[in-house]
Amino acid sequence: MKRLDQYVCVISGAATGIGRASAKRFADEGAMVLCADRDEETVQKTAQEIRDSGGEAEAYYVDVSEEESVKALTEKVKQKHARIDVLFNNAGIDRDGGKVHEYPVEAFDAIINIDLRGTFLMSKYMIPLMLDRGGSIINTSSMSGSEADFERVGYNAAKGGVNNLTKATAFDYARQGIRANAIAPGTIETPLVDKMAGTEENEGGKTFRDAQKWVTPMGRLGKPEEMASIALFLASSDSSFVTGEIITGDGGLTAYTWPA
Ligand code: NAD
Repeated sequence: MKRLDQYVCVISGAATGIGRASAKRFADEGAMVLCADRDEETVQKTAQEIRDSGGEAEAYYVDVSEEESVKALTEKVKQKHARIDVLFNNAGIDRDGGKVHEYPVEAFDAIINIDLRGTFLMSKYMIPLMLDRGGSIINTSSMSGSEADFERVGYNAAKGGVNNLTKATAFDYARQGIRANAIAPGTIETPLVDKMAGTEENEGGKTFRDAQKWVTPMGRLGKPEEMASIALFLASSDSSFVTGEIITGDGGLTAYTWPA
């Protein structure tokens, strides 16, 4: 018996990275995966790859920061599937940009709108499709939701909000059988990190990727598939008594303080 047999799962940000890996993993476990992303061409490829390997998947356009777009997606899902079992709010962006007094307002607004408001909007409109049978909501947060990053205040603020939105959702719907948890990834090899990484060296002569490997006790970046494994645990009945949790997958990065 597969772990997500008969499940209908919505995954935002499913075109690439953690969302794409999770879509594949969920489909391998028997789910009908509804892959949603604002990158229409690439999300079609994710869904096609799943179908080509014998799984069930559909591709949908959504901009999670736009209320009308989220409502339109919800209506399509409702017409076609009537209910969902899992909502994986994973779409997100990241930007550096300086300390608070330097940080561009435009970058702050963009991150809050996608990473935090998008998570709220998707939950607001999709939860009614879960109320009859219960389900699992998974939000992609970050280790940056509880720890400070270097000059990435917008991301810190947005993911901090995602953590507490997750707990509020868990508390409000616990008696209705809807669980809500978050994943807090460390640094994972995805296109998002490629955009941050570049080849520029810091004062110690390290690129962003080198520096992340150095500070991570396991000595490497994580793989999207390793985050998909956490998502699968949270989506399935294996985590049936787990709600309101932020589960970290960071190779030990947030487990220590700087050595003296
Ligand atoms: P990614 O760039 O590969 O994936 C992000 C996906 O979200 C893309 O497919 C993108 O098109 C989509 N997206 C962006 N804005 C959107 C919008 N407004 N509406 C719909 N889709 C949108 O990066 P990833 O690393 O796989 O990121 C997935 C999640 O993981 C994000 O929430 C990110 O903040 C989080 N995260 C990533 C890392 C990391 O190191 N890669 C670390 C911590 C948290």
